Amino acid sequence: MAETHKSKALAVDLGGSHATCAVVAGASVIASETLHINGAMKLFDVLPRIANELRRLTHLTEVGFSECVGIAFGFPGIVNTQNGRVLSTNQKFVDATELDLPGWARESFNLKLRIENDARLALLGEQFAGAAKNFTDIVMITLGTGIGGAAMIEGRLVRGKHFQAGCLGGHLPVQLNGRKCNCGNIGCVEAEASTWALPQICREQKGFNESSLAQVSIIDFATLSEHAAEGDAVANAVWQHCLNVWAAGAVAMIHAYDPEVLVIGGGVMKNAARVLPFIQTHIKAHAWTMWGDVAVRAAHLGNHAALIGALPLLRENVAGEKV
Ligand SMILES: [Zn+2]
Repeated sequence: MAETHKSKALAVDLGGSHATCAVVAGASVIASETLHINGAMKLFDVLPRIANELRRLTHLTEVGFSECVGIAFGFPGIVNTQNGRVLSTNQKFVDATELDLPGWARESFNLKLRIENDARLALLGEQFAGAAKNFTDIVMITLGTGIGGAAMIEGRLVRGKHFQAGCLGGHLPVQLNGRKCNCGNIGCVEAEASTWALPQICREQKGFNESSLAQVSIIDFATLSEHAAEGDAVANAVWQHCLNVWAAGAVAMIHAYDPEVLVIGGGVMKNAARVLPFIQTHIKAHAWTMWGDVAVRAAHLGNHAALIGALPLLRENVAGEKV
């Protein structure tokens, strides 16, 4: 069977605290399992567990490796999509830059491996079978522990000479005198409004000691939203701050990449009813799009977006064109 006509693939979506392994067929995840890991671990030590899980899932679904077009590997960092190497890891899986992942896939499964930044892979998934289906010009933002970004122009993922174009949406500066980000920049979207930055943002808010949030051991967006709904002033002020930051980041991405649709995903979208209309209204008022309004949509595929991006990624040639 010609490789490009195969409709099954293996997929791995690596995050700071998980490695989700899957067998996909077309736009469906037919089996998946999430391994709970820690980004402080060496990826070298996690790979045998990933390989075992992929073997178990293919056995379970009776899918032979030879039926698969390859392995798509989503990584939370900057990756060289041409040679399959990780270039920069932003404090997670710091040994990954030394690993030969395509070699690992060849030796373990006799399959080719394509690696991609996790947000870009999620965008591919949403375009293949989710919120951005039938669009060719897309920006995706994921709001969560960190903030991911990705862009597609005229049907091709934006990657750039050093593979970092579009995927640093979380590191666009939105506050000139803002917080120091773990990327080295100041006032990034991610430093101003992501889960990792949230506890510090709350603690620095005026009146924090009197806030109900001061009694909470872990402050995340779910907690923040609960306390805001109960009328806590600090929680409400921080929510509003975060909404403003995300909306400013969204306008920056729109001005940079000229999309028809903006897809927003990530854990924060559990509060989509509050997040989506705010960003929509802000964009309508402030984005310079003389041709009309950018459609703003919630991601449809949730945690499966990057997995469903596997087949479109594997079907691209190295130049990024569909084959
Ligand atoms: Zn940053």
